[in-house]
Amino acid sequence: MTFDTLGLFEPLLRTLASLNYRTPTPLQLQSIPAILHRRDLIATAQTGTGKTAGFALPVLQLLTTAGAPVRANSVRSLILVPTRELAEQVHQSVKTYGQTLPLRTLAVYGGVSINPQMMALRKGVDVLVATPGRLLDLHRHNAVRFSQLQVLVLDEADRMLDLGFASELDELTAVLPKQRQTLLFSATFSERLEQLAVQISRDPLRIAVNTPNAAASTVQQSLVPVDRKRKTELFLHLLRDRQWGQVLAFVNTRKGADLLVQAIQATGTRVEAIHGDKRQPTRLRALERFKAGEIQVLVATGVAARGLDIDDLPLVVNIDLPVVPEDYIHRIGRTGRAGAAGEAVSLVSADEVPHLAAIESLIGELLTRREEASFEPDHRLPVTTVDGQIKKKPKKPKKARQATQPAHTAPAPATAPNSRIHLGDWLEDEPSGARTPAASRSGSGKPASTRRPPRQ
Ligand code: AMP
Repeated sequence: MTFDTLGLFEPLLRTLASLNYRTPTPLQLQSIPAILHRRDLIATAQTGTGKTAGFALPVLQLLTTAGAPVRANSVRSLILVPTRELAEQVHQSVKTYGQTLPLRTLAVYGGVSINPQMMALRKGVDVLVATPGRLLDLHRHNAVRFSQLQVLVLDEADRMLDLGFASELDELTAVLPKQRQTLLFSATFSERLEQLAVQISRDPLRIAVNTPNAAASTVQQSLVPVDRKRKTELFLHLLRDRQWGQVLAFVNTRKGADLLVQAIQATGTRVEAIHGDKRQPTRLRALERFKAGEIQVLVATGVAARGLDIDDLPLVVNIDLPVVPEDYIHRIGRTGRAGAAGEAVSLVSADEVPHLAAIESLIGELLTRREEASFEPDHRLPVTTVDGQIKKKPKKPKKARQATQPAHTAPAPATAPNSRIHLGDWLEDEPSGARTPAASRSGSGKPASTRRPPRQ
C-alpha cells in the first residue's frame, strides 16, 4: 500500500517522496482517508506510530483545498498539545509536511514572551499548534479568534489531562465553533478521557493501532534491581560496562536530574538535562545537541521529555520509575519508534515496587529482571505478578533463609521464587498502600493516577 491510494494530492505526495516515506503506517492507512472525508476521529496511538503525519497530512490538504483564506487574528485549524517541546516538534513536522503549500503555521506556548506570539497571530494562521494555557491567555487578549476554525486536533490528550489541563480544555472547547472536525489522539484511555472524547466529537471513527495501554512491542524491556542509594553508581557502571551509546535517562525530580548530571559529568561523559526549571531555549538547545550526537546522555524529567521526537534512539533508561504508570509507556515510546528495535532498562529499588506492579499490570507483562553482579540490592525487590499483586516471602526459620540465599550472583528470573525475598527488608521498605493490589493503589494509598507527580 502506498500513499497515493489514500487520496492525498500531488504536492503532498512529492513531499513524502522527498522525505523517503514510502509506506503509510497502519495508523496513517486508517486516519488519512477518514480525515479527508471529514470524519471525526478518536485514535489510540502512542508516539512512534506516525500519528503526527497521520493527522497533519490530511489537515494540510483540507486547508489548502477547502475554506476561505484566513482572516486577521483567525485560525483555521488548531492542534492542542500538552507541552512546549511537543508544540515545537509538531510545528516542525507540520512545516516539513506543508513545505510546498501556501499555508501559514505557528506554535504558541507558555514560558516565553507573549508579545511576539500576539504579533505573529495578527495576519491569521492556517495551522496553530498550541499548549492550552497560553492559548487561553491569547484568547483573553483578543489575539486569536476561532470563527474560522475548521479542525481541532488534541494530541496526547491523556497527557493533557494528567497535567491538569481539564478545565482549560473545557474553557477552550466552549468558545470553539460547534461545526468543526475533531481529531483526538491519545496513547492511553481512561474513563475521564473517554467522557471528554464523547463530549467534543461527533460520530467519531475509532482507531486503535496498538492494544490500548500496551507498550511498543518492538521495545525490549528489562529491569535491574538495585538499592535506591546505589542507582547513580549502577547507571555509570552500566554505561561503561555495556558500552551504551546515546541514552535518554529519566528521573522523577528536577533535583534528581541535576545531581545525576553532576555525577555523569564527573566521569567525563557529555551530558545535559532538560526539566521544568530550565528555560525553553535551553531545553530546545539540549535536545538539538542530543539529536546531533554532541551529547551522549540526556537526563530528563517525564514532563520535559514528553513528545520528544528522536529518531532511532536505541536506549531509554528509567533511573526512577514513573509515579503514574501510563508515563512508563510514554517514556519507553521514545525508543523503538516506527518499528525500529529499541531497549528500555529500568533501575528499580524495593520502595518502587508498587509503581512497578502498577506498570506491569498496565502493560500486561512482567519486566524481565536482570541482576547486575556486585549491585545486588540489600533491600530485595519483591516478586510481582502480572495482575498487579506484590508477593511477600512467607516467614522462614533463619537457617533455611540462609540456605536459600548463599550469594547474590544468579540473575533473578521475572517470576523469581518467593524464597529470594527477605521479608524483613521488604517490610522495612513497604509503603502504606503496598499491601493492596498495586495496579489500583500506590505508595500513598491513593490511586496512582490521581496522585500529583513530583515537580518535574
Ligand atoms: P510520530 O508517531 O508522529 O511521533 O512519528 C514517529 C516517527 O516516524 C517520526 O520521526 C516520523 O518522521 C516518522 N514517520 C511517520 N510516518 C512515517 C512513514 N510513513 N514512513 C517513514 N517514517 C515515518
